[in-house]
Amino acid sequence: KLASREYKPEDTVINIDNLSLGGHDLQVMAGPCAVESKEQLLEVAHLVKNAGAKILRGGAYKPRSSPYSFQGLEEIGLKYLARAREETGLYIVTEVMDTQKVDLVSYYADVLQIGARNMQNFPLLRAAAKSGKPVLLKRGLSATIEEWILSAEYILKEGNSQVILCERGIRTFETYTRNTLDLSAVPVIKYLTHLPVIVDPSHGTGKWRWVQPMAQAAVAAGADGLIIEVHPNPSEALSDGPQSLTPENFNKLMNSLKPIAQAV
Ligand code: PEP
Ligand code: MN
Repeated sequence: KLASREYKPEDTVINIDNLSLGGHDLQVMAGPCAVESKEQLLEVAHLVKNAGAKILRGGAYKPRSSPYSFQGLEEIGLKYLARAREETGLYIVTEVMDTQKVDLVSYYADVLQIGARNMQNFPLLRAAAKSGKPVLLKRGLSATIEEWILSAEYILKEGNSQVILCERGIRTFETYTRNTLDLSAVPVIKYLTHLPVIVDPSHGTGKWRWVQPMAQAAVAAGADGLIIEVHPNPSEALSDGPQSLTPENFNKLMNSLKPIAQAV
């Protein structure tokens, strides 16, 4: 298997221009769940950059449980992301949900995100792989580690070796948290594969209060990066407000990671 340590013993390092993910540096991706307006996005982009993030997240196409919920700004959202990159130098990660949108999203994005709901959308995995962009593959809501690695295999098999795995919590019987963040997946993935693995404590917990401690734990467990939802005003967010950090709390989180990252 192409993802395995037997096939490739050394860690894969993803290069986005001169930024590397999967090497020694811990990379933090941060930004709103959804791109809501130019003002919202640019404000949060500058804030997360000043706090030390190198990659800006933000969905322009949103996979919402309800068809009546905000679905994203689509191509306009992609243009705002490109504008934020120009202004800040942050790289862009954003979700692609549809094979027919892969070319468009890859035109604007530096990293293509495959959402948890699409982890086993095999035609989408193949199309995203063919874009040649790095692919951030989120773990499916009820996917085993084995199934998740096999999905990465679909991308690798197309000749794209730039795959980043993202643990974002799985469905369990627990309801206090939105999902159960499976941090044991981090050392397991690092043992079984050569791919970088990052953690999303925002979707992993669903509540902002638990984001910082789980981000710290993820770094201690050996994660290569984090993806964190930050909103200038979480109570007014169009999606995932309850799990979004204020800029102030994001700053605190970033400062809390430094001693842990140095220790691992
Ligand atoms: C997101 O990153 O906003 C998102 C929808 O994540 P997931 O696919 O993990 O639910
Ligand atoms: Mn979200």
